[in-house]
Amino acid sequence: MNANEFDGLVAIVTGGASGIGLATAHEFADRGARVAVLDPVIEGLPEGLLGVPCDVTDRASVDAAIGRVRAELGGIDIVVNNAGISAVGTVEENSDDDWARVLDVNVIGMARVSAAALPSLRESSAAAIVNVSSIAALNGLPQRALYSASKGAALALTFAMATDHVREGIRVNCVCPGTVSTPFVERMLLRFADPVAERAALDARQATGRMVTPEEVALSIVFLASPRSASTTGTALDVDGGVTHLRVRPQTDGG
Ligand code: NAD
Repeated sequence: MNANEFDGLVAIVTGGASGIGLATAHEFADRGARVAVLDPVIEGLPEGLLGVPCDVTDRASVDAAIGRVRAELGGIDIVVNNAGISAVGTVEENSDDDWARVLDVNVIGMARVSAAALPSLRESSAAAIVNVSSIAALNGLPQRALYSASKGAALALTFAMATDHVREGIRVNCVCPGTVSTPFVERMLLRFADPVAERAALDARQATGRMVTPEEVALSIVFLASPRSASTTGTALDVDGGVTHLRVRPQTDGG
């Protein structure tokens, strides 16, 4: 691994103040990138990361944030569309307002940020976008109808954007994480009658028997964004503890 493979490059990470986004911002910075975190909450960010207030549901806020990154860091080479919110429920249980809010953050937010960054990406010789989808795009999960629809859209958007921009030298890929131990999951667990039982079910659902770590997802995002991955575009990389493709037998007392 080349520790300085991102020297001279600028990466922006939406939702980079917490969880997967924060781990990703750290990983880029450790490998030499200048990193801007676009998030509504930027207080307490570690030194070395540029915090830029941004709400991905608001085009004026996104345009202002992209303008500030360009002005302060000189351009944009890498966009990580990571900002996302959760939803629990069947199609009967989420309101129209829930649908509008979750799709606005999780899907339209990706389009807004990407569109605003494209003029900068076209000026880069190492342009890459990485979207954060989910195993919810690939597996039928219980009580995740709205969330799964949003992450399925993120997956489809990845392929469409990769096609539209490949000839411009802009690569677009996504990661599909399994359940990752972050504040996002902690908040979701609180919506269940028995959060302890639900956490145990989430761990057990992974073939590896444990949730994914934010750092493990960050490594895959950084791999996809790296200029050394120049032939990798229009792919979805599962970081899911085997949950999508492995069919392991349940553990018995006999091991
Ligand atoms: P998190 O809640 O720890 O962090 C999400 C960040 O997004 C927060 O900093 C939050 O302030 C920011 N954010 C929320 N709304 C925003 C908005 N309108 N504009 C800009 N930023 C906004 O969550 P996480 O677990 O790190 O999840 C990050 C991404 O990974 C999300 O897209 C999520 O859907 C996806 N994901 C998470 C898991 C998981 O199990 N944690 C699994 C698969 C995919």
